[in-house]
Amino acid sequence: MKYKTIRGTRDILPAEISQWQDAENAARELFKRYGYSEIRTPVMEETGLFIKSVGEDTDIVKKEMFSFRDRGERDISLRPEGTAPIVRAYLENNLVNLNPFQKLYYIGPMFRAERPQAGRLRQFHQVGIEAIGSNSPALDAEVIIVMAGLLDSFGVKNYTMKLNNLGCADDKKKLSKSLKELFSKKEVASLLCDDCKRRAATNPLRVLDCKIESCKVVVRKYFKEVEFLCADCKKHFDDVLKFLDLVKIKYAVDPYIVRGLDYYTRTVFEASCGSLGAQNAVGAGGRYDNLISDMGGPVTGACGFAVGIDRALIAAGKVPGETGGAKVDVFVAPLGEEAYKKAFLVLADLRASGISCDIDYESRSLKSQMRSADKLKARFVLIIGDDEIKKGEAALRNMQTKEQVCVSFDKLAAAINGKIE
Ligand SMILES: [Zn+2]
Ligand SMILES: [Zn+2]
Repeated sequence: MKYKTIRGTRDILPAEISQWQDAENAARELFKRYGYSEIRTPVMEETGLFIKSVGEDTDIVKKEMFSFRDRGERDISLRPEGTAPIVRAYLENNLVNLNPFQKLYYIGPMFRAERPQAGRLRQFHQVGIEAIGSNSPALDAEVIIVMAGLLDSFGVKNYTMKLNNLGCADDKKKLSKSLKELFSKKEVASLLCDDCKRRAATNPLRVLDCKIESCKVVVRKYFKEVEFLCADCKKHFDDVLKFLDLVKIKYAVDPYIVRGLDYYTRTVFEASCGSLGAQNAVGAGGRYDNLISDMGGPVTGACGFAVGIDRALIAAGKVPGETGGAKVDVFVAPLGEEAYKKAFLVLADLRASGISCDIDYESRSLKSQMRSADKLKARFVLIIGDDEIKKGEAALRNMQTKEQVCVSFDKLAAAINGKIE
């Protein structure tokens, strides 16, 4: 019996891992420059957290969460997104008392039971930020700037940053009411999918982000210029755009960007890449000014984004493969049993001096040990034989120049360090 990964999950193998590490390091370095601190929340949360925040009638909650009842009869879900857990953590740990304005970032796996396709796995990985505690349009702009900087550092090119203004809670209610009227007209309702027929009455905003083509056509035909934004929200959005213009961030305003989560208000945005196919968002986010208070916290504005690492690496054209550079500095090749013992000690000394080194665990000929050294892309091979032990030295061979010198055991680390630097 051979076990396999669960559908929609995959292994990230060593040949690929440096791309992930590079991406994560670039993200950490970037976020630090903008004053963000890392937060790590559990991958499991109470199911109610997501129902309350993301919304009961969203695709994520209705169709895509991995939810189960544990042995203690608790309803638990694997996190489908990062914002709700962070708001939960912000409130539960009273971060608001430490400093009402918090800049937090996260890197980790998320889980959604979607139909698996390239770059859209059931366990996928997101890197994102949440800035909690300000209503300023400068914050929206900065969050968008950070996302653009992150995509740049990942090597994602040719993406379009699309922005939209959803308005405040009152505006959303107004929009919802207009949409309800629109979608209840017979000629419109008959064109909607079964889910949207239901949503048209319960949560008409979610019809706007239905992924089914016939519904998209309806939305584009009928939802043209429904007026719903108040003067404050219009001004807020204009100010966001002004800040973006100031630092020459390119964007396009797209009235169909609504994001499929209930908590968004005012600015929402999405970076999409043509190369990723139909569902082409590589990162997205927005403002969520009511979520903190809806979850029992103070009335305060917040804004954030998430970028899918799996998708970003595909969009950047990164393909798994051996990456260049040596895997070890020194391969130690002992000849014979006595030499092996000496080599074992030498390995310990070299590693303690910060030199990466390895050895063949089987006693083999020098020729096959040299092959192992090649596989590991060792820069030096240190040959230890009986003669060398007697003389108190080892032969150090540079694998590129093939130059070989004898170095006494007590000067090995210094000699190698000198050659590596
Ligand atoms: Zn408003
Ligand atoms: Zn639909």
